Amino acid sequence: MLRVRRRPTVAPLQKPMARQRFSRSSLFSSDIGIDLGTANTLVYVRGRGIVINEPSVVAMNDKTGQVVAVGKEAKVMMGKTPPHIRAVRPLSHGVISDFEVTEELLAYLINKAQGGRSRLLGPRVVIGVPTGVTNVESRAVRDAALTAGAREVYIMEEPMAGAIGAKLPITEPVGTMVLDIGGGTTDIAVLALGGSVASKSSHVAGDRFNENIVDFVRSEFQLAIGERTAEDTKIAIGAVMELPEALERPVRGRDLATGLPREIILTDTHVREALAPALDTLMEAMKEVIEATPPELLSDVLQHGVTVFGGGALLRGLPELLAKMLGVPVHVAADPLTAVVRGTGIVTEDPRPWGEAFMHEEAILSQS
Ligand code: ADP
Ligand code: MG
Repeated sequence: MLRVRRRPTVAPLQKPMARQRFSRSSLFSSDIGIDLGTANTLVYVRGRGIVINEPSVVAMNDKTGQVVAVGKEAKVMMGKTPPHIRAVRPLSHGVISDFEVTEELLAYLINKAQGGRSRLLGPRVVIGVPTGVTNVESRAVRDAALTAGAREVYIMEEPMAGAIGAKLPITEPVGTMVLDIGGGTTDIAVLALGGSVASKSSHVAGDRFNENIVDFVRSEFQLAIGERTAEDTKIAIGAVMELPEALERPVRGRDLATGLPREIILTDTHVREALAPALDTLMEAMKEVIEATPPELLSDVLQHGVTVFGGGALLRGLPELLAKMLGVPVHVAADPLTAVVRGTGIVTEDPRPWGEAFMHEEAILSQS
């Protein structure tokens, strides 16, 4: 029968060296860690730190098949491109919606991280991918990295990489619970001995919060605002608990009745009301993961608490709300937007201790 087997040891995927060009200045490329997030893509180069931190948006020219722009430059083009140029977020729902674009994005990042030079020995590349990515998709990511010149490629799920970045003891026989609130997906996982014991992925994340704000303003104020405005509002005044001092912000949109522009003042209370149902859903998802966690590990979680990262961790009052609702301590990782890429950076130093944490790609025909 067909069984998916875990690889017993770490077997890096080698690229034949003959395809590399010799460069006298340096034989070795610097190793690279990449966070292919649904909203943001970050690249860490060993010895240099985070060198790329851009939105996960690619603008492609469909006539030539070439990348026109990546990151901020491509994000500005979204919705404003001529017909033959496409600006897309290839991973926005936590799955790879466009292989070709994802491959182009990776090749661009690896090239840029190496300063456009090709070395005798390509870099070791560790890539964090959203948990919704299938084995077929992760293999496509691996192949794209090899084509782009990588010498070894390791792929791991982002919550795992983020936990490593947050310096949590994930290889120990201790239960560690993490919550990664990104743009397209939120991942909840209990990790132990380098593996995921219980987990859940939800589409209630930053993008959904923005949509909730758009919908709230539409129904409460009869005003149409864009998602970009909603996101800026969320970041500027968003809070999920009552604040000691109210925050407010003017927001402009189109009046649904007159069709003309109009300005309103939104407060943190409005945003809280808009996000309340989404937060209830997240809380339910966390409860499900807690219910699926074996008691021994749960006692570790109760003791050490939950660590939150991803951009959503920055929502004002989120740790306090979660702690109150779930009855466990909640910590926000230091610099939550970079936890995943810093984790991939740590893994580039030495992949061996993290063997269990990589995505398993081989389907092996077994006798049993
Ligand atoms: P991903 O890993 O999916 O690429 P990120 O972890 O980079 O996502 O987080 C991006 C999300 O975080 C976006 O939805 C963004 O609006 C949100 N975000 C960023 N900063 C803040 C903030 N200060 N408060 C609330 N949300 C934020
Ligand atoms: Mg992420």
